[in-house]
Amino acid sequence: MLKDRVKTLFIRHILRKQVPISFSHTNQVSFLDAEPLITDKVYCVLNFDDLSPVPDDSKYIGRGGALTDFINIKQEELLKAFPFLGITHFLIPNHLPADRFYLFQKDKYAIANKANENWLSYYKKLSAEYNIEFASHGVYHRQTENLLMARHTEFAYLSYEASLKRLQYSLQLFQQAGIKPIGFRAPGWDMNADLSLIDAIRDAGFNYAGLCSYDGGLNSVKQRISNYHPVMIKGIVNFPDNINIDWPMETIDQTVRKIVDMNGVIAIKGHFSKHTLTNSFSETNYQKLKELVKKIKDTYGSSVVFGTFRDVYNNLEGKYQLKTGKKVNKTA
Ligand SMILES: [Zn+2]
Repeated sequence: MLKDRVKTLFIRHILRKQVPISFSHTNQVSFLDAEPLITDKVYCVLNFDDLSPVPDDSKYIGRGGALTDFINIKQEELLKAFPFLGITHFLIPNHLPADRFYLFQKDKYAIANKANENWLSYYKKLSAEYNIEFASHGVYHRQTENLLMARHTEFAYLSYEASLKRLQYSLQLFQQAGIKPIGFRAPGWDMNADLSLIDAIRDAGFNYAGLCSYDGGLNSVKQRISNYHPVMIKGIVNFPDNINIDWPMETIDQTVRKIVDMNGVIAIKGHFSKHTLTNSFSETNYQKLKELVKKIKDTYGSSVVFGTFRDVYNNLEGKYQLKTGKKVNKTA
């Protein structure tokens, strides 16, 4: 608490910015009474954070850049074994990893950079062959507004206006690469305590966002939003993360059962890197994923459908006539 109070004073009075939601003890907003959005069948979505053209030998988050990287090979193996799988990749369109930071070449790992052409065409081909969705994971993944605290939380210190600008730039980079994302997840989960990032996500034109884990993003410090159901918040749909691939199998099985019983969405989350984090796409977690997919298929049969967040969103949009992603009038 004392540490948080010192940080708060520094952010408010020296940086003159808002305290991020991750340690704001005054934010009382709750979306817990929002109506749960229920799909006809229970969806199971595999989703990864941090795909980018940065190769596997970087020490930092964000991988998949070299097509011979372990994770690219294993992903293909997984898709060949289970071609019905849906994968949502929260992709970093212009990643700036700290150990490969090129001051005069900041677009080195931009997805539309000519130098990454092979990478991009590989991923586009893969998404044409299999059910792969690309969603936005910010622009750089790094924040430069507060150099003394966590650097991987790109949106933690951005105002509504700055967030909107950044999100529009993200969409522009995707557009240059010929990709149209409809979903967004904030790098490192964090956001301004006034939650104006959500307004910016809607106004930039996104339809959904993944803004919470059990203790991250909107559920930092206290729970504010459902861990099992999608809900509408401020004009977008929020998809929670609820299964971590580094959990023990028994915990995963129990949680899947619970989500199926309550007609929620099973969202299996990992990081698209080989071994930076415990929920990375490592050999162990790869084996576990294979076991899990097979088990879900065998246990629940056709009552669980595999797909991407985009598939779930489309299903809900049709059923509930959702109106999301209101674009701002640029001249207003
Ligand atoms: Zn990330």
